[in-house]
Formats: sequence, C-alpha cells, structure tokens
Amino acid sequence: MFDPRTDRSGGQAAGSNASSAPRSACGAEIDQATGQTLARYAADYPKGPHDQPQSMCPAFGALRIGLRMRRTASVLSGSACCVYGLSFTSHFYGARRPVGYVPFSSETLVTGKLFEDIREAVDKLADPEQYDAVVVINLCVPSASGVPLRLLPREINGVRIIGLDIPGFGVPTHAEAKDILAGAMLRFARGEAEQGPVAAPRGGPSQQPTVTLLGEMFPADPITIGALLAPMGLAAGPVVPTREWRELYAALDCAVAAAIHPFYTASVREFEVAGRPVVGSAPVGVDGTATWLAEVGERAGVAADKIAAAQNAALPTIREALAKAPIKGRITLSGYEGSELLVARLLIESGAEVPYVGTACPRTPWAEADLAWLESKGVEVNFRASLEQDLAAVEAVKPDLAVGTTPVVQAAKEKSLPALYFTNLISARPLMGAAGAGSLAQVVNAAIASKSRFDTLTEFFAGVGEGANTGVWTATGQAPWADAQGRAA
Ligand code: SF4
Repeated sequence: MFDPRTDRSGGQAAGSNASSAPRSACGAEIDQATGQTLARYAADYPKGPHDQPQSMCPAFGALRIGLRMRRTASVLSGSACCVYGLSFTSHFYGARRPVGYVPFSSETLVTGKLFEDIREAVDKLADPEQYDAVVVINLCVPSASGVPLRLLPREINGVRIIGLDIPGFGVPTHAEAKDILAGAMLRFARGEAEQGPVAAPRGGPSQQPTVTLLGEMFPADPITIGALLAPMGLAAGPVVPTREWRELYAALDCAVAAAIHPFYTASVREFEVAGRPVVGSAPVGVDGTATWLAEVGERAGVAADKIAAAQNAALPTIREALAKAPIKGRITLSGYEGSELLVARLLIESGAEVPYVGTACPRTPWAEADLAWLESKGVEVNFRASLEQDLAAVEAVKPDLAVGTTPVVQAAKEKSLPALYFTNLISARPLMGAAGAGSLAQVVNAAIASKSRFDTLTEFFAGVGEGANTGVWTATGQAPWADAQGRAA
C-alpha cells in the first residue's frame, strides 16, 4: 500500500503533525484542506493497534456504494495498479456499471493538469439524462498530493458532483469508506431539502412514520424489520447507503434512524443535524429484538401499550425459531463488516459458546448496547482488532469453528479447525427477527460437523509445504540434501 510517510512523492499520514501536511504543486491552501480532511477522518474513525488497513483497499467501500446506486457514475483518480485492483474487485462482486478512471503521470500530478483532466472528465459525464450524481474518488497518491476535488463544481447541468479523498493512510477500513460517501451524499441531500421541495421516493411517501436503517444488510432484513415495526404504527424506511439519490431525502425524513451497523459516524452526524434521534443495535434474537423495539418505539413517541404489542407479536416466534435451530459448539468470530456483534448475539442465543469477537470497526456509541450484552455473557469483544489479535484468539481458544476474515479462515484450516468466511457465508444471511433466528444454524452446524474431514486432510497432507518442503530456504545449509557448508551432499 502507498504510504506518504515513506513515499518520496510527498504527503503524510493522518496521525502525523498537521504542520507538515501533504505537499502539492497547487499551494499551501490545498495542503491545509487535505490536512483538515485527514483530521476529520482521524476523529471520525479512530485508529487501533494497526494504523493501516489490514483488509482490502478502503476506497473499495465507497466505490461499491457508488456502483450500486442507480443513475450514479463513479470515477477513480489514482495509480493504475490500484484502479486495476479496485475495478477487478468491483466486477468480481457483480458491479453493473463501469468504473471511470482518470489516469495521471508524474507531470500531470505535479503541474496540476490532473485536476484539469478530472474536471474535463466530469464535464463530459454530467449528462442529466443519464445521471443524478457523479462521484470522484482520489486514491492514495492524488489525496497525498492535494489534488483539490473540493474545487470541482457542486453541480453541472443539474448533476451533483461529489469529490472525496479516500486514501488508505487516512481511512482504516473499507467499511468506513462506505460511511464517507453515504455521509457526503446525505449532507448534500440535506442541503437540497433545506432549499425547497425535493423528489418523493418511488412509490410515494410512506403513510406511517419511518425508521431509516443504516448499514448494508440481507435484502429480506428490511422487510422483516418492517413487519416488526408495524404494530407500533411505524414502517421501515430506506436503507442507507441508498440505491438511488431520491431515497436520501426519504431517509433523512425519518422518525428515527437505526444505526444497525454502528460505524456510520458521518452519516449519523447528518441525521443528528436533521434533528432525528439515532438508536444502536438491531432486532436480533429475543433480547436484542425486545430492547430494540422498546428503544425505537420510545424515541418515536409510540405509546407503551403499542410497544408491548410489537414485542408480544415478535418475541414468541423468535424464541421458537431459536429453539428449533440450536447451535452447539465453541466459536470465535472476527470480521470487518460491522455486524460482528449482532451475529455473536444470535449465535449465543442459539446456544453457542462465543468467547471472542473481533471487529475491524471502531467502538462507537451505537455499539454500546451490544457490547454490554456480550460482556454480560462473558465474551471478550475486541474493537479495531488486528489480524494478529484475531489469530491469537483462535490459537488460544481452539474453537470448534472459527468464523473470520480470509487469513483467519486460512490459518484455522491449517490447524485442522473448521472455519467459515464471515463476509460471504455469514453476513450474507438474514439476521433480523424470526427469519434471522434460524438462519445461521444450518451453515454453522454443518461446518462444525466437518472437523473429521479436516483431520483426514491434515493427516494426508502432513509435511507438505512445511519446513524444508516449502521450497524456501533462507540460509545455506537448510536444504535437506545440503551439508553444513551448504554443498550438495
Ligand atoms: S489506493 Fe488503495 S490499493 Fe492503492 S495504495 Fe492506496 S490503499 Fe493501496
């Protein structure tokens, strides 16, 4: 990953002194602007034991959000190798739109021509017949060099232009990059709504007060949440990040914003400025659903008897679903999606023992309720967990199943421990209400039951790729056929 602290093209990391902010051919004012952006990121997304992402390029989070939105163009400005990786990953995950790219050379970077090239690209793209918004993302090198996206026009032909710096040295995870773009869009939309009438959502405004849902989730989850809210006279509102610009206005026009994923700091700020109360956690399991319905109902001004009615309608079926799909076993859990604490709650209510939860996301006020519940069950919760800490937990706990990121899964399998990749196999399942209560058991129990297969594989491949069989010898004399002086025996 590019690191401006060591790269000779200039720049510095978010954590370092603002007085030596990124250098740019465009002048001191831009250095200061970039430094301010990095300072805001440092405040919004506090760092942990590691000061750089340990997962994919953070910009992927924002790019993915832009690519999933209707009538939105996404343009990257950065090194070709970074853009190759980001566009590859985007299309691997099913992007339906092209990724725009404004290339640069040393010359266009230092002379300011890169900014003119971006401006020209944006001008060409800003066709109101095709787009509501154009998102331009500065990757590491243009961010460190102070390429001033804030000087792009706010709108061209009625198409909104949103320019963001999303460098790997200032944004700890790709999850938080989603928040950077979602927050910027909410801020823009809030400004438009304050100026006058704005477009209604497709299908018209909701007849009931709504609860906006913060965080990408399984497509059925918002429907489940809507059914849980119905007895209180509330409806599920849009999910943020939204799939369309006009949904942003409806999202802001909610009775309550629910930070289902707790890392949406910039987005929450926009709801708070709009005067909307924000609640944490989610309707997962019996305890989580009871508490969440009560808090949402109270913040929306719902009468106590209606809150009780909603709880009475939901909790018996959730209890029943959990009882029908028990999970037995000890599980460690780590991920970077932001739903780790919710999944852990569900696993524990299903009967599993979960001694450790690591999340790459930071501790925020909207994670506190889940943290308190998990700690009351004896769980060690590690925010901003590093890969090393997650691996150490697997080593110490020796779980029946390790749910984690790719390198955690790989390390666990090397030790004959069943493991599941959190992103593709766990977070892509329903979690809310009764539908979520039974959804994890099948995949988790099947994985735990596969332990003997891992033992067979380990036995069969014993010694392969280990020690002298790796084919890598760091000093003479290590090769099995060499003598003490490194000569062939
Ligand atoms: S833009 Fe992303 S891939 Fe490129 S150097 Fe920065 S963090 Fe790494």
